[in-house]
Amino acid sequence: MKVSKPIINIVWFKRDLRLSDHQPLLRASEDKLPLLLIYFYEPSVMQFADSDERHWRFMQQSLIELNKILAPCSHCIYTIHSEVLPALQEIIEVFEVKAVFSHQEIGNHITYLRDKSIAKFCREKNIIWNEYPTNGIIRGLKGRKAFSQKWMQTMSAPMFEVDFKNIATIQLPDDLLPSFTNAYESNRQFQPGGPTAASQYLNSFLYQRKSNYSKHISKPEESRKSCSRLSPYLAWGNLSMKQVYQATLEATTKTGDKRNLQFFVNRLHWHCHFIQKFESECRIEFENLNRGFDKIRNETNPELVIAWENGRTGYPLIDACINCVKSTGYLSFRMRSLIVSFFTHHLWQPWQAGAHFLARQFLDYEPGIHYPQFQMQAGTMGVNTIRIYNPVKQSIDHDPEGIFIKKWIPALKDVPVEFIHQPWLMPLEVQIAIGFKIGEHYPQPIVDIQQTARFAREHLWKTKKSKVVQEQNQLILTRHTKRKTEKEDPLQLAMPNLFSD
Ligand SMILES: Cc1cc2nc3c(=O)[nH]c(=O)nc-3n(C[C@H](O)[C@H](O)[C@H](O)COP(=O)(O)OP(=O)(O)OC[C@H]3O[C@@H](n4cnc5c(N)ncnc54)[C@H](O)[C@@H]3O)c2cc1C
Repeated sequence: MKVSKPIINIVWFKRDLRLSDHQPLLRASEDKLPLLLIYFYEPSVMQFADSDERHWRFMQQSLIELNKILAPCSHCIYTIHSEVLPALQEIIEVFEVKAVFSHQEIGNHITYLRDKSIAKFCREKNIIWNEYPTNGIIRGLKGRKAFSQKWMQTMSAPMFEVDFKNIATIQLPDDLLPSFTNAYESNRQFQPGGPTAASQYLNSFLYQRKSNYSKHISKPEESRKSCSRLSPYLAWGNLSMKQVYQATLEATTKTGDKRNLQFFVNRLHWHCHFIQKFESECRIEFENLNRGFDKIRNETNPELVIAWENGRTGYPLIDACINCVKSTGYLSFRMRSLIVSFFTHHLWQPWQAGAHFLARQFLDYEPGIHYPQFQMQAGTMGVNTIRIYNPVKQSIDHDPEGIFIKKWIPALKDVPVEFIHQPWLMPLEVQIAIGFKIGEHYPQPIVDIQQTARFAREHLWKTKKSKVVQEQNQLILTRHTKRKTEKEDPLQLAMPNLFSD
């Protein structure tokens, strides 16, 4: 006699590790079938060149906390160490799966291919896959007006909240799937994952830390405190953008600090704006947005790449930034722009040779922001202004006393302030007096930035003006913008334009 399998629905957690404002969870719960709550640690995703232990530690911390919250109601999110497709194949041996509920993922190429294979599998097995938009990003969107208006509506809508006492979850047979058993040790240098830390960062920013937000946003040291530091919580979904947006409006009313909080809201728009663009042009994970730049800067010099990755370029602010991001997973926007500008313009390296390295360093790695930002700094968008930052000027402007530099390059701790931005200018007698030798304790500059800036400027400007780049720009604009409607869109004022300046 054929025994019928229990009918269930699956809630597949991805980059949305929270229990509040979770549309897939709410919609699945409305169907009244028992739920399987599941998260997959996928070997192919974990082994890819953009992935680092710091990301998986953050996920682990988040999942542990979510399961602590769920435990009193006897629910649990299963953490499975497997590719998704074979795991689903095993699950349907034991359960009849009516539907899978998840957020749409705007991830890297690996997760894109995985999602395609899961969609095919679901079609073949008559499983409904209900995917819900992430943070107001619209799949297959054409034109921009629709996006901004819809985004505002999404941000203002009520939260999706589930009453966990009124749902039933199922237990997986012990031997069905391999659990993820890796235990990442906590590391206090990094922001911890999980909803508690997320709301602590949110509240401390909105009610205390924000007062110097716009003033310190470019300062490498001060920005660590005065910026929100919400990026990992948004990237891995401990917070939805709607939660952050609505909390910000409330704080604006309560504190009256319109200036800093509007500045902040603009960046929340940018977050989604960039991901929306990546959604429709995901090839830019690998290729120049404007293919007219393909002919320049396509050779990698491993020595220069290694010096940059190891914080050994001889330019103190660049090296301090690299050391800092390696140890803490965080850098402010300006400092990220600076190290990418240095890499692509002064070292004249293709942006692709540095993108995975920094993806591994950023705790908040978000493909939809990371690749477009890399290309903006590298100047390969074609239409945006190309900025070639001078690392010495940036250092003098944003770390005048060298506090950040000395913190992250111990070899420079005794260097007098007047030489901290250019230690190679230190006279021999000063070097002897402080027991320091340039070239031995800290490298000589690996390039001459006057020459490299001139070289980069000439080549980039010439290419930017070339017919092929101009033609490509037109193609990109036709694909992505409806210029007529842009003026009618109030949010455009606050957003950077990825595809035109
Ligand atoms: C080369 C490069 C790579 C980057 N890669 C990432 C990445 O992988 N993940 C990521 O979240 N950000 C990335 N950024 C954008 C930005 O640097 C970070 O979002 C920001 O520094 C995070 O700090 P915060 O949360 O304190 O930001 P805040 O200034 O407090 O801003 C609040 C939120 O707005 C969003 N935001 C802020 N600045 C930007 C921006 N310029 N573009 C898009 N969204 C923004 C973020 O979600 C951020 O958490 C990158 C920037 C550059 C130049």
